[in-house]
Amino acid sequence: MTDILPSYVRDAWWTPDAGTAGIPVRDASTGEVVTHVSTEGLDLAGALEHARTVGQASLGALTFHQRALLLKEFALALTARKDELYELSKRAGATVRDSLNDVDGGIGVLFTYASKGRRELPNAQVYLDGPVEALAKDGSFLGRHVYTRLPGVAVQINAFNFPMWGALEKFAPAFLAGVPSVVKPATPTAYIAEAWVRVLVEAGRLPAGSLQLVSGGVPGLFDHLGLGDLVGFTGSASTAARLRAHAREGVRFTSETDSINASVLGPDAVPGTPEFDAYVKQLMVELTTKAGQKCTAIRRAIVPAGVRDAVVEALRDKIAERVVIGDPHAESVTMGPLVSLEQRDEVLRAVAELEAAGGRLVLGTTDAPEVVRADGSTGAAPDGAFVVPLVVGFDGDASALPDAVHDIEAFGPVASVLAYRTVDEAADLVGRGGGSLVTSVATADPAVAATLLARTAAYNGRLLFLDRDDARTSTGHGAPVPHLVHGGPGRAGGGEELGGIRAVLHHMQRTAVQGSPAMLTALTGVWHQGAASRSDRHPFRKPLAELRIGDQFASPLRAVTLDDIETFARFTGDLFYAHMDEEAAAANPFFPGRVAHGYLLVSWAAGLFVDPAPGPVLANYGLENLRFVTPVSPGDEVRVVLTAKQITPRETDEYGEVRWDAVLLNQRDEIVATYDVLTLVAKTWEEGDA
Ligand code: NDP
Repeated sequence: MTDILPSYVRDAWWTPDAGTAGIPVRDASTGEVVTHVSTEGLDLAGALEHARTVGQASLGALTFHQRALLLKEFALALTARKDELYELSKRAGATVRDSLNDVDGGIGVLFTYASKGRRELPNAQVYLDGPVEALAKDGSFLGRHVYTRLPGVAVQINAFNFPMWGALEKFAPAFLAGVPSVVKPATPTAYIAEAWVRVLVEAGRLPAGSLQLVSGGVPGLFDHLGLGDLVGFTGSASTAARLRAHAREGVRFTSETDSINASVLGPDAVPGTPEFDAYVKQLMVELTTKAGQKCTAIRRAIVPAGVRDAVVEALRDKIAERVVIGDPHAESVTMGPLVSLEQRDEVLRAVAELEAAGGRLVLGTTDAPEVVRADGSTGAAPDGAFVVPLVVGFDGDASALPDAVHDIEAFGPVASVLAYRTVDEAADLVGRGGGSLVTSVATADPAVAATLLARTAAYNGRLLFLDRDDARTSTGHGAPVPHLVHGGPGRAGGGEELGGIRAVLHHMQRTAVQGSPAMLTALTGVWHQGAASRSDRHPFRKPLAELRIGDQFASPLRAVTLDDIETFARFTGDLFYAHMDEEAAAANPFFPGRVAHGYLLVSWAAGLFVDPAPGPVLANYGLENLRFVTPVSPGDEVRVVLTAKQITPRETDEYGEVRWDAVLLNQRDEIVATYDVLTLVAKTWEEGDA
């Protein structure tokens, strides 16, 4: 590793001039200097401008699906060099299990967005939000919401504890949205961020300007940011508040900060129940993973008064059984040090404050522990930032405890244990955290769970209910998953990250667009009712290369007889009275008498629009948005109009998806049913192919 850690700006590695001192970054276990960090002389404004120009242009040339496929390539490149990242992470105190969260977790975010991007976003650059709104009676004026990407740069300021996952959970959605990223890692683990960025650079597939890394301070950052730019921050609440105050109007600033998360043991989860065991195991995991340096870790264990001591004892046993503290280079070690001596001192200071607020240590000691060293020997490690798991107990009436209990964050292997008497009191205690990223509840009693949901959801970004059925499969209290929102109200920063495609949309602007059907069709690439259509050849004869939105087939009318309805009823077994019993059907306020089955009509529609010979249409994979509007009686006639609405070629396959707008009408041209037919269609097809 070089003396000064490089940054990656304007698509090239950059280091300060020789002779620049830089801030030393030390090995968490030994205190050895790993590298130095400095951005003295770095042209930050130039890097941001590079993102807004070159980065925007290169990402703007790609569709959502193309970007998603690149994310998959990045994930594969990192997977191939995972061992290097695991090895390097040990220097920051990360055990193999910790790296499972950080390294594999980060790669997992890329894979998830690669897959969600292709399944849930169109192969286009505009995302449509919600249904079309008809704004004129004759259908000539429509409105709908569209998302387009922000024109600026996403600056991602990350915390020290997850140099990979924490960065990639911000980078992946920004990249998918088409917004270039400037990543600013925290100083203590900046060398791990440099390593994963290097892997991606060396893989050679990063679009120009799409990713830059600033390894060190970013003075004056906010002077260079404006409307269309974003800042995603993770770290302390105080830094977040300071930075937020500097953000100009129009800069989207989100933060994810300290959070005094809670874990509630339900009154039913007494010792001996699977819920009690799951609760204690989870508490042990949250105390020791990343040595408790997790924004989502459990800081307050809220347990029924009668079982407090049993919880502490069970936890003590579990820790004795599972936890070996030391340098992660030693194989037996399951819990590493804190990231730095400064961080250790901070944690011990916070523990002293909790004690001053009335707490007393019921598990662990603040004395420097004996630990396993890298060579496997055991002894003191005065230059390592080691702290053993600590539990601070509070006696007496939990409701009367000072606010400090709910305010002080010891960002290490530290939790308080508070005893409650009623479920309502437990809920009150959760809320006193002032807004958390997550609360978990171990209970098998739905009534307890329902009370806590109603009373605490507003104070939490995520709630996890742990019981005997999900204890083994639960992803855990402290593990945000890319599919679900990560963030929380109030003290937790008020931001939202992840949550699947929500995080992508955060990097885009939602705009209401109004216009004629033809104009909305042209702007969105999706056919709108009322826009021009074309009926030259049956659209089922056209491969994707020839098919255009607006290609249409309109069938002739087909008569509906009572005999048809009865045949269908007997054939399918659907003898519902509305189809079979004239008197009962007529008594129903929705029907004039016996009516045709909706599914019969949909089946007929398929028969009316299908072109049966082998052709480019490969499969029908579903219907969406099916609505039956007008009942159809014997003696009526129906016809169908089928129009190619949206065409989504798949990047890696020889076919794509075609969404067809289907409208069933009766002989009076009243709408009988509307729905979308979903098909897979070959990209190319010659008549005669089979
Ligand atoms: P900080 O809030 O000090 O730093 C977080 C990030 O902000 C780092 O990348 C830091 O960079 C950067 N930063 C600091 N000042 C500025 C600035 N003026 N302009 C731009 N960026 C800035 O948190 P720490 O990492 O030091 O951790 C301190 C405490 O924060 C912990 O003890 C814990 O309580 C909490 N924390 C919460 C986390 C969470 O996930 N919610 C995660 C980590 C910490 P640099 O390192 O270069 O100063």
